[in-house]
Amino acid sequence: MSLRTNGLPDQDQLTASRPSPQRLARGPVAIFECFERIPCNPCFDACPTGAVLPFADINDIPKVDFDLCTGCGNCIAACPGLAIFVVDETFSTGEALLKIPYEFSPLPERGETIQVLNRAGREVGQGKVVRIQKGRNKLATPLVWLTVPKGLAQEVRHLARYQ
Ligand code: SF4
Ligand code: SF4
Repeated sequence: MSLRTNGLPDQDQLTASRPSPQRLARGPVAIFECFERIPCNPCFDACPTGAVLPFADINDIPKVDFDLCTGCGNCIAACPGLAIFVVDETFSTGEALLKIPYEFSPLPERGETIQVLNRAGREVGQGKVVRIQKGRNKLATPLVWLTVPKGLAQEVRHLARYQ
């Protein structure tokens, strides 16, 4: 598997993009699955804490100081590549909270149980919508907050609705 052959990152890329287990155990944190050099940097401008480090070149792949990240999700709403997710593995004993960009209409509703998908678009289980976060800017991507079984926190990256 590779981005160039089937659009999926390989395990080395995913491992490199992931915060340490110690950081994940401290609460919500952004995970940037942005692996291609492209001229793009709105995630840097959107971050209020300086967690997205300055770009030396606009084509740089973003680098994140996870210790500065609060998991606010501002960068998700600004990212045109839908490449950023927030994961909170401390949400409850058995569940993780994910914040996922979602640009389809209609948006899911709070309390809805939905099918959740992995990076390949395959259903891997069910999640529950706990909040829809819309930005003040009309162009901002809405965020779906959903809970999933904790073991799926690093696998689920999209959701499906069949209506
Ligand atoms: S989630 Fe918030 S604090 Fe973390 S990198 Fe994104 S904008 Fe910055
Ligand atoms: S805004 Fe998104 S696509 Fe653009 S550099 Fe940042 S993470 Fe990558």
